[in-house]
Amino acid sequence: MANDFLQNFNVRCIGQSGTVTEVSTQQFDVVIVGAGFGGIGAAIQLKKLGYENILIVDRESDLGGTWHVNRYPGLAVDIPSTSYSYWFEPNPHWSRLFAPGGEIKRYASDVADKYDVRRHMRFNTAVDGARWDEDAQLWQVALADGDTLITRVLITATGVLSQPRSPQLPGINEFAGRVIHTAAWDDNYDFEGRRVAVIGTGATAVQLIPELAKQAADLTVYQRTPIHVGPKNDFAIPESLRRLFARAPLIQRAVRWITDMTYELTFVLGVLHYRRFQWLNTTGEYLSTLLRFISIRDKELRRKLTPAYDLGCKRPTFSNSYYRTFTKPHVHLQVTGVERFEPDGIVATDGTKTEIDALVLATGFDLWEANFPAIEIIGRDGRNLGKWWRNKGFQAYQGLTIPYFPNLLSLASPYAVSLNFFDMMEYQMRHMDRLLGEVRRRNATTFEITEEANDRFRDRMSKLQHNTVFYLGNCAGARSYYFSPHGETYLRATSTRATVSEQASFALSDYAIA
Ligand code: NAP
Repeated sequence: MANDFLQNFNVRCIGQSGTVTEVSTQQFDVVIVGAGFGGIGAAIQLKKLGYENILIVDRESDLGGTWHVNRYPGLAVDIPSTSYSYWFEPNPHWSRLFAPGGEIKRYASDVADKYDVRRHMRFNTAVDGARWDEDAQLWQVALADGDTLITRVLITATGVLSQPRSPQLPGINEFAGRVIHTAAWDDNYDFEGRRVAVIGTGATAVQLIPELAKQAADLTVYQRTPIHVGPKNDFAIPESLRRLFARAPLIQRAVRWITDMTYELTFVLGVLHYRRFQWLNTTGEYLSTLLRFISIRDKELRRKLTPAYDLGCKRPTFSNSYYRTFTKPHVHLQVTGVERFEPDGIVATDGTKTEIDALVLATGFDLWEANFPAIEIIGRDGRNLGKWWRNKGFQAYQGLTIPYFPNLLSLASPYAVSLNFFDMMEYQMRHMDRLLGEVRRRNATTFEITEEANDRFRDRMSKLQHNTVFYLGNCAGARSYYFSPHGETYLRATSTRATVSEQASFALSDYAIA
């Protein structure tokens, strides 16, 4: 593959609808959609392989992906920050075991600068879709502003939770107060002394509600499904320890090993081997019950906050203040659902009306409808990825490549995700290293996963689900985004170590490289 062309020239473009037009465009070796940790990691790997003609586009105004978009009060990483970094770039500066969101955004920025990937980024650039041009053996990437990019390889690093869900609740457009989604936080809105409602009690709400309660005069939380909340062992990392981490990275690596292993064991045993280790989940549920008992004296309130599904069906959450917040006199829990909005408030299905000034939607993200895939992608023979996934099931070889989609690496695919996003990046970067290295070694221009290899991988992954909490546990009432409307899950049911080491051993003959 040539590495050194960045050209402006005219090219025949096939629009998403199939119409052919002549446009002025730019050509790249690789276009990456998304400047979050996925896109940054992919760019670092490409640069290691010698690629320089790379463009990273992002619809936002800065890098950082989810850590740029999410800025709500209380935002912090929900796994220990000692484990939350690229394996090759430990960060000795985390201020807490669960670092606040701003620090993670800063880490993204520092890494992008250190590895010189920021100069490849183009912000405020939304992508509409991409189409494989069979004749030219190139991807045409259609931008929302009407421009088209041409690229040999397309990498979608659009994240898993990147399309905010704002449910069309009855009458919501009539509401005259402020409506703020947690993923579009308005830093200028002052909640001090306001009457506020929050819809949603997921992982975001667990972090946000205690913070909002400190400011709002009155806070009503509309809960549809309670969430398991465990005690959070969070603490400030002393300055002396941070200095030690900076001076002796091996010590930090040892600490990372401990937090990695703790999480890995919990995930492998409690989620993947639920059949044999169900007691681990039950122990976790007891801890959550104990936390409710310690935090709340009111038996009825405890009952309302008690989930009816097994721990592990949904992303587990940790907070020492969430349950206690509901005992404050100005905080109310509403569990009967929203009947309708009126200009000055919400009417619940039990007829209770609550007057509010502001509504916060902690309603999460649309994964299955809007994010798989996040842009329209048309591959070989006109195959539409979104439609194909919906007809044939959500699948991707090693969570990355899909038959009929040559030269596409889709980082946020089904089976890509395990517990820690950076573990996912590690194995994906290692996969890219081998695959693109081989493409280059053969002086080839295209790669495509074979149908046979994809089918084999998909069948293995779905069989592995049979021992998991998703398959054996009581997940029916969880309403977890881990499950598609048809009950499929997108999580990869292998241990992190197994996933990473598989990238050194997958058969390169699984790919057609030409
Ligand atoms: P979520 O887990 O999907 O929760 C959305 C909440 O909104 C749920 O309680 C849901 O209720 C409710 N909801 C949605 N539509 C509704 C409707 N029409 N009516 C009433 N309630 C509705 O989303 P999230 O809390 O934003 O968390 C998403 C994920 O982001 C987490 O699981 C986690 O992986 C990640 N996250 C990470 C961090 C971190 O690392 N620091 C922090 C926060 C979040 P139902 O459950 O009944 O559907």
